[in-house]
Amino acid sequence: MRLIYSALLLSLSLLYIPNPISAHFFTNVTSIPPWLNTTRSNWESFHNLSSYHFGQRVDGLNRLKKYFQYFGYINHTSNFTDDFDDALKSAVETYQKNFNLNVTGSLDNDTVTQIMKPRCGVPDIVNGTSAMNSGNPIATSSSKHFHSIVSRYEFFPGEPRWPEGHYDLTYAFNPEGDITDEIRGVFSRAFDRWSRVTPLTFELSTSPYLADITIGFFNGDHGDGEPFDGILGTLAHAFSPPSGRFHLDAAELWVVDGDVTRSTSLAAIDLESVAVHEIGHLLGLGHSSVVESIMYPAITSRTRKVELHSDDIMGVQYLYGANPAGNNGSSSPPSSSGRETSDGGGALISSSMCGLRAFLAIGFGFLLFF
Ligand SMILES: [Zn+2]
Ligand SMILES: [Zn+2]
Repeated sequence: MRLIYSALLLSLSLLYIPNPISAHFFTNVTSIPPWLNTTRSNWESFHNLSSYHFGQRVDGLNRLKKYFQYFGYINHTSNFTDDFDDALKSAVETYQKNFNLNVTGSLDNDTVTQIMKPRCGVPDIVNGTSAMNSGNPIATSSSKHFHSIVSRYEFFPGEPRWPEGHYDLTYAFNPEGDITDEIRGVFSRAFDRWSRVTPLTFELSTSPYLADITIGFFNGDHGDGEPFDGILGTLAHAFSPPSGRFHLDAAELWVVDGDVTRSTSLAAIDLESVAVHEIGHLLGLGHSSVVESIMYPAITSRTRKVELHSDDIMGVQYLYGANPAGNNGSSSPPSSSGRETSDGGGALISSSMCGLRAFLAIGFGFLLFF
């Protein structure tokens, strides 16, 4: 009997597939109902931590430590206390470097305000390697204007990318049924922005099982160990090549069409802006400290940012070269020696994924990150 029960459980577990749900989509920015007009997020309580500094003990600091751990700023996983200790001070300093803030090590108002902003769920530091200012010895200036001077595009450890010979990529929605032509149009435009500056092409497929990239909207825990957190907070996450998994938080108020800056809801998020950012991850780009770049990790609500910055273009062209048709090439294609120094494809993914969320790879047999 116990054997039968165990076999049944195993069968059920194999059948488990994260269940995408209907997301909040709005094609008219004035149609968001008032009861959804909120800016409350799980991170709002961080506001109470403003002005605290090293040596103090404050209720709620343990949650902030978990926040920093999630995004790669604190390594250890246990004994999170409410003490403002060395680990937290170091995390704050690194965060301030990455986000072009004054490096004080304290929770000043600018820092807390930045921490509370909605953002991508992909860590800023992967496997101990920073993909932003703090990872570059020349980028240690505390100047708020540093980002405007130096390009800061970065990659995941090992520089995973889609292999040469597999540049014509397909993408699909899961499930296809909930996706309207307007939503397809948003993603099509987002992919086109990257296609215009690279040799890559993206074609819509009807099969999420066969497509290189699968796009899904999910609520909360959706089976990959990276649960979404409801309105605002983390908005989406994606995995480095060649995983192709692209997940968005179904709880967000996704504006599909119209001028998001005129939205009646303070929590309205422009779908295309987030899509362009996540596609950068799907292609192998990490986060950038350049505020104007698409790969900057945070985006405020009611904001539209869809144009690739020269920092984004240089980064993606380092991995793939320019569009052979000559569109908008701002940097030279990578040299053959440059490509040879990195393996590309699956072998490299392993290293990047291990640092991030290695347990996911074990559970699902593919490499996740974010
Ligand atoms: Zn991101
Ligand atoms: Zn996910």
